Amino acid sequence: MLQGIGMTSQRTRTRMVERLREKGIRSEAVLAAMAAVPRHVFVEEALASRAYEDTALPLGMGQTISQPYIVARMIELLLNGRPGIGKTLEIGAGCGYQAAVLAQLSKEVFAVERIGPLLEKAKANMRTLQQFNVRLKHADGMLGLPEAGPFDSIIVAAAGLNIPPALLSQLAPGGRLVLPVGASEQYLSLIERSPQGYTETRLDAVRFVPLLSGIQ
Ligand code: SAH
Repeated sequence: MLQGIGMTSQRTRTRMVERLREKGIRSEAVLAAMAAVPRHVFVEEALASRAYEDTALPLGMGQTISQPYIVARMIELLLNGRPGIGKTLEIGAGCGYQAAVLAQLSKEVFAVERIGPLLEKAKANMRTLQQFNVRLKHADGMLGLPEAGPFDSIIVAAAGLNIPPALLSQLAPGGRLVLPVGASEQYLSLIERSPQGYTETRLDAVRFVPLLSGIQ
């Protein structure tokens, strides 16, 4: 019985990855990372049958688990042209899905979440998956995570009106930051830090929950 569920999950996960490929995700490393993480573990049981659809799903507390395509797209932007994503910070861990994907590509992932009960869910999910290279912290990610920086990669899962300065300063030279920016209209922004400074590239139109300050 259990094995049956496992096989169904494996087949639908393979189909999800094929769809990501069709939508334009090219990096084999990113596709393999997406294939390695069982998304059904992160969604409410009632929604488990929809876990491998390419849509955002509710995760409680008014937040959503990100759409697989967006997760893959943003991680591909982080990786692009580099051998790995290195030491990585995620802002807005929710219940930990994207953190688990990042953990397939990095030895060291730090993830912060401002809503306590979601962070507890994320911790439980990492234990279930035996994913021990993700460190989760209950904190306001607008401030980054100064005690653990600088980071080679920073990824933000909620949209602010502008780019938090703390995140720019915690980016290592050669590092990349990918985040959504805006309110009712949002776009993905890629920031690259070189020894000369920062360059910004504005990319796809997107839709994320808001980046809020403070913790709850
Ligand atoms: N990464 C998650 C997506 C969760 S939705 C996934 O893989 O599915 C985005 C999350 O960002 C929400 O849980 C929200 O509470 C959180 N968030 C918003 N503003 C934040 C902030 N300033 N610091 C930390 N987390 C924040």
